[in-house]
Amino acid sequence: MTATPAYDPQNIFARILRGELPAHTVYEDDKVIAFLDIMPRCPGHTLVIPRAPARNILDIAPEDLAHVATVAKKVAIAAKAAFAADGITIQQFNEEAGGQVVFHLHVHVIPRHSGEPMKPPASAMEKPEVLAEHAQRLRAALAG
Ligand code: 5GP
Repeated sequence: MTATPAYDPQNIFARILRGELPAHTVYEDDKVIAFLDIMPRCPGHTLVIPRAPARNILDIAPEDLAHVATVAKKVAIAAKAAFAADGITIQQFNEEAGGQVVFHLHVHVIPRHSGEPMKPPASAMEKPEVLAEHAQRLRAALAG
């Protein structure tokens, strides 16, 4: 069994949290932010992350995880409406062997349409104007 490495404050999502890198944010509060995945597996693919520096489910405080789950549910309901989705896929990966690539805990919220497969992970960067329009749709649904 491999030991779990320490949290790396230079990971991409920590840099987004500090405002060092841009993101199409759709929701934020004092504990959580949600923003669009830059390489969406389906339109509207959103990531929900804690502000707390947690690497993944193995080290996050239970109350921070609970709040991430609460916001993931809000985003799922908004995404279903905003993208007229038939369903929602939720994914969350832990450590490299578990499929994790970015080591700050995140929950994927992916709107799905019947018969339409997800693109493979990291298959294509979405155009910024498309992400901006999708983020606007999600923000409107979350506000509504
Ligand atoms: P995981 O760690 O769960 O395998 O996936 C990491 C996710 O982060 C991927 O879906 C990938 O497309 C997304 N991602 C990687 N780099 C960036 C970035 O700079 N900005 C955003 N918004 N998403 C990213």
